[in-house]
Amino acid sequence: MPKSNSVPQVFENYSLKEYNTFGIEVKAQYFTIISSLESYVALLKAGQYAHVPHLFLGGGSNILCTQDIDALVVKNEIKGFEVIQEDEDHVILRSGAGESWDDLVSYAVQHQWSGIENLALIPGTVGAAPMQNIGAYGVEIKDTFDHLEALNLGTLVVERFEKNQCQFGYRESYFKHEGKGKYLISTVCFKLSKKPNIKTSYGAIQTVLNAKGISNPTISDISNVVIEIRKSKLPDPKEIGNSGSFFKNPTVTSEEADRLISSFPGIPNYPVEASTDIKFPAGWFIEQAGWKGFRDGDAGVHVNQALVLVNYGHATGIQILVIAEKIKASVFEKFGISLETEVNIY
Ligand code: FAD
Ligand code: NAP
Repeated sequence: MPKSNSVPQVFENYSLKEYNTFGIEVKAQYFTIISSLESYVALLKAGQYAHVPHLFLGGGSNILCTQDIDALVVKNEIKGFEVIQEDEDHVILRSGAGESWDDLVSYAVQHQWSGIENLALIPGTVGAAPMQNIGAYGVEIKDTFDHLEALNLGTLVVERFEKNQCQFGYRESYFKHEGKGKYLISTVCFKLSKKPNIKTSYGAIQTVLNAKGISNPTISDISNVVIEIRKSKLPDPKEIGNSGSFFKNPTVTSEEADRLISSFPGIPNYPVEASTDIKFPAGWFIEQAGWKGFRDGDAGVHVNQALVLVNYGHATGIQILVIAEKIKASVFEKFGISLETEVNIY
């Protein structure tokens, strides 16, 4: 299909309730949907919305809106999958940034291309995935990331970013910090393996495979099991508003870890790859501090997963944020641990 380069329609005072998985009712001063980079560049060149900041939106599954957004909110629907390179062992698959992440995983699994099957059912778009180097079940996108293309809003030039330029870390990247708001990510490319690279050691994957009698899993088995586990543990944003894990898991030095482990015997902990640091599950601290299932009006902490803050219907972003701040304060008081927010607050 030819790419549209016509200026997209812009709406004023547009409700974002359907565009953020917390389901918070706020309005965007201006709102538009782009289906091609060319149409966004046409909009920029028209110059009409140069006086306001531009805020990019994918699936809205990693944001908390605490007020109306005085900006042009640009919802990215740049689509398309394409194999741009292939050899005996690998393909390089390019995806439009507005594709659903989970559709990309399904597409790769259907074609027997391995590397992202553990990341099944993560909500949101492909273009937002590099923002926080999405991860789950022992895999992060940095493991298969090849490069991305992003429009520099200052120069209107499309720049190519290799892996080492993205500064990927645990739920971190260049685009979440120095690059935030400066680039629209338009395509992302992944190097996927034609030979299955099965990873079952994390969480409940192996247990569920055993229960199903699967001893030699395919990548399709892995993705199905991950989907099953996720559906059983995590609230579906269509039913209860949420943005997944609200906080990052804290990592501390080995000395600090010794202090925690001796003060709180039985505390779960995991070594951090290529480091002497130790990671502790944020959800454990929050649960031990008594917050699991807490509810104040329509804002609360999920009954089964303390790391997930929820909107039962009509909570405001501020009400959610107030609970988050109280959680941080009480976890710090009880454990001396400073929780860091993972969700992007606006
Ligand atoms: P949005 O929320 O729309 O945007 C997030 C940030 O990225 C914003 O700052 C936005 O401005 C920016 N952005 C979005 N698109 C672009 C673009 N094209 N160019 C530049 N900037 C852009 N995350 C994990 O890592 N692992 C998980 O297992 C996981 N599980 C989740 C489960 C649930 C139930 C939910 C609700 C969320 C979960 N998340 C998880 C968080 C979330 O799904 C991911 O962070 C996802 O990548 C967000 O994608 P999005 O398109 O919804 O981003
Ligand atoms: P879980 O399996 O109950 O584990 C709890 C925590 O312990 C996770 O946060 C995980 O850290 C850590 N963990 C468990 N097994 C580990 C291992 N073998 N090695 C290292 N760390 C281990 O977690 P869950 O809540 O059901 O989530 C499952 C996966 O989905 C996790 O990877 C989680 O990150 C991801 N997830 C992310 C979000 C989000 O919004 N970011 C939301 C839901 C689920 P890690 O988080 O570092 O993996």
